[in-house]
This record gives sequence, structure tokens and C-alpha cells, in this order.
Amino acid sequence: MPDLDRRKFLKLALCLSSAFGISNLPESVQAALREIDAAAIPTLVYLHGQSCTGCSISLLQADDPNAVTMITEYSKLAFHTDLSATSGKQALSLIEEYFSGRAGKYFLAVEGAVPYDMPEACVIGNKTFADHLMAAAKTMEGAVAIGTCASYGGIPAAEGNPTGAVSIKEFYKRQGLKPLIINIPGCSVHPDWVWKTVIHLVRLGLPDLVNGQPKLFFERKIHNQCPRYHDFQQEIFAKNLGDKGCLFKLGCVGPDTYADCSTRWWNSRQDWCIGANAPCIGCASRLFASKKDFSFYRHRKG
Ligand code: SF4
Repeated sequence: MPDLDRRKFLKLALCLSSAFGISNLPESVQAALREIDAAAIPTLVYLHGQSCTGCSISLLQADDPNAVTMITEYSKLAFHTDLSATSGKQALSLIEEYFSGRAGKYFLAVEGAVPYDMPEACVIGNKTFADHLMAAAKTMEGAVAIGTCASYGGIPAAEGNPTGAVSIKEFYKRQGLKPLIINIPGCSVHPDWVWKTVIHLVRLGLPDLVNGQPKLFFERKIHNQCPRYHDFQQEIFAKNLGDKGCLFKLGCVGPDTYADCSTRWWNSRQDWCIGANAPCIGCASRLFASKKDFSFYRHRKG
């Protein structure tokens, strides 16, 4: 690796050891790591609430740049429930270091909803997830809500759920707090939407937001940029999955969903839902999965 000089190597080692929670490095290595300054990149403390961890898996699929580059060059991942090697008391004291303000500036990254009516349904260590959010509120620079559950409640907040799940914005609102929150919905979230927001924070500062979401990705409706929009206008509708034509009558939620899927595509630009003849299920919509009549849940006769 000819481009990897000593400084870059040390920086990479520092960020990876931090990301994976490795703190028992030899003193000589720790001393060398202290030589470099990784303070210029944002530190992320990443916690999970009511979530399936699908967004974390999606983030690891990033390819432009890839996830390792993102957590070494563009951010310092201080803690992540799945990726950090540290666990138990060591993990809790690391989180506590940040939330008490002793470990320096950081952004809180949250995946998952908050069980507002049943706080004990989501516990990290000896505290509820809600208690952790309250502790972070005093010291964090802001929060990034990753995925639809954290942004709007998502599936955990579906009608009839007993936990009273809410988004992190709604949770803080009910506590009378208004921290900076960047909502990046999607079920799962697109890795570009999150990592390019982080790059924007590093290079250019806070991105422009529309309804609390980065305008870069969520300014336009899927419907208006859909290659089948002409079919919609001509009233050429698909009758069955796999048919050509607009998928509106098969439950497509593109007309109510703001996201750039039609131009960004998914899985390293292989395809996207409508490109694969499936309706948009509105996973980035604030209404996603909320009511029993949301098209995602509907049954078709026959
Ligand atoms: Fe709109 Fe969906 Fe039809 Fe595309 S397939 S034009 S997003 S309703």
C-alpha cells in the first residue's frame, strides 16, 4: 500500500481501534497513536433502540466510500452496539464517558424507536434507552436519526403496538427538549444517505434540511422522478406484479414518498424497487407502517 505513510497508518490504527473498542493496546503503540490528531473528524456514539439492526447492516454495504473509510477517514466511531469489540461494563463506562462530557464532543447516532410507554422494553446495561437519550441530550452536538424507526417510529410504532414507540425527535419533544436532530429515514436506510451526510458535516458543515431531512436526498418525490410517471399520466396501470405500467394500483406509495431512489438506486447501483417491478413501499415516508391501512399491510383479494 504505497499511499499509506506513517501518519496515515497511525490514524487508521487509532480509528479502527476506537471503532472496535480495543483499548488494551501496548503503551508504545498508544503513545504513537497519541501523536496524531483525529479531533477534526466527528465522533459518533451509535446506540440502538427498538430496531432490527437492518440499517447498520445497510451502512456496512457502503461502497463509495466504503464503510471502513467512513469510520477511519471521515468519522470516529467511538461506540457501536454491533461493531465494537468492547462489551459489558467497559462498554457502559465508555458510553458514560461521552454522555458525561468527559470524553469530548460527539454526535449521537440512533437506530430504532423509543418505547415511550414501556421504557423497560429497551435497556442498555443498567439504564433504559430513554435514560441514555436524556443523558446524551446535555452533552451531544446533535443527533442523527438513522432509519425510519428513529426518524418517525417506523414498524415499532405501528398502530396497536403496546410500547408506545416514538421517534427520537418526538421523545425529546415530550421532554420539552429541542436538540438538533437530522432525520435520515429509510427501512433500511440507504448507506449513501447517512455517510454522505457525515461527509457533508466534515467538509461543509450542517447540510440544508427539508422537514428535518437532508435536502440532498429527500427534496423530491419518488413519483415525480419515476420512469413510469408517463404511464401514470396515460393511466396505463400494471395489474399484477411484474407487469409493465405504473404500479399505483398495486399499492405504490411513490406519490407520498420523498427520496432519490429512482436516480441513486440500491445495492451498489444494481437496481431499485420499481426498477425490479415492485411498488415503492414508502419505507422513507413518515407514515411508513404507521396505520393498519398503509398499503404495505393490505391484502389483495385472490
Ligand atoms: Fe408513481 Fe409508483 Fe407509478 Fe412510479 S410506479 S409513477 S412512483 S405510482
